[in-house]
Amino acid sequence: MDNQNSECPKCGNNNTLKGVQYNQGNIFPEGRSIFNMGSEILHVFCSDCGYIKESYVKSPEKFIK
Ligand SMILES: [Zn+2]
Repeated sequence: MDNQNSECPKCGNNNTLKGVQYNQGNIFPEGRSIFNMGSEILHVFCSDCGYIKESYVKSPEKFIK
């Protein structure tokens, strides 16, 4: 998660922003209860055109059975 200055493949901008997707956007383990809190998703995206360069599940350990 340290390539903050990678060039955007869409517009060539070198600046990125980070955002967390949560609530309705949470990801949950397949086939398991929705009462499980699931995990937020962290996106790293271009500050100019908004192209998402990387996405991370913030709590992958929740998916280990
Ligand atoms: Zn861009």
